[in-house]
Amino acid sequence: NSFEELGLRPLVLDNLKKCGYDRPTPIQKHGSPQLINGLHVMCCAQTGSGKTAAFLLPIINRLLQQQDTLTPAMTAPATPEALILAPTRELAIQIGKEANMYANGSMVKTQVAYGGTAIFSQKQRLMKGCNILVATTGRLKQFISEKIVDVSKVRYFILDEADRMLDMGFMPDVNTVVESLPPKEERVSGMFSATFPPDIQAAAKNILGDYVYIVI
Ligand code: AMP
Repeated sequence: NSFEELGLRPLVLDNLKKCGYDRPTPIQKHGSPQLINGLHVMCCAQTGSGKTAAFLLPIINRLLQQQDTLTPAMTAPATPEALILAPTRELAIQIGKEANMYANGSMVKTQVAYGGTAIFSQKQRLMKGCNILVATTGRLKQFISEKIVDVSKVRYFILDEADRMLDMGFMPDVNTVVESLPPKEERVSGMFSATFPPDIQAAAKNILGDYVYIVI
């Protein structure tokens, strides 16, 4: 029941210590190893369970393992290896902050793109490239169509708070983005949701294919 047992790299372990985290939460203990091993997961977990780290740690760990083959972040359009979709700008910003904490001191670069504000400065930052992109769907769709972002190299895809995405009417946009990604066999994908109604089950089948189902 330790972060060491999850097989995380020393840089990530150091950063977790700096965050003051002593041990993995249940969702990290049970969900993260699946993603580390390249399995698709559907996790039912509430906010506050540590779900953000549950998906960020495996992604950052795998990106660090593949440092040599990482796309140099200085490329335009931005060609992220990892894409995380969030329903709100606040959540996207929070996920971006956590990614920076866990990847601190490495060359893994995270950018955040969200609607409603500051499109010019977001474009400028994205044109400098990134390895992890955290985005809200509307803004991402726009950036894909403007060729500011290229999602064809995404190997890790996370849909966070999927039930809120559904409630807010974002699922058609999510599906459009998913169609631009490599096929599900060529990426590791995870969905996180507080509830698991039939519509989310259908989305999981479509986005993940076969998946490990974890309830916390
Ligand atoms: P989340 O469920 O992702 O919104 O996380 C809730 C809060 O728990 C965040 O502020 C994290 O910084 C914190 N957190 C995540 N993992 C751990 C952990 N293993 N130990 C202590 N705090 C954590």
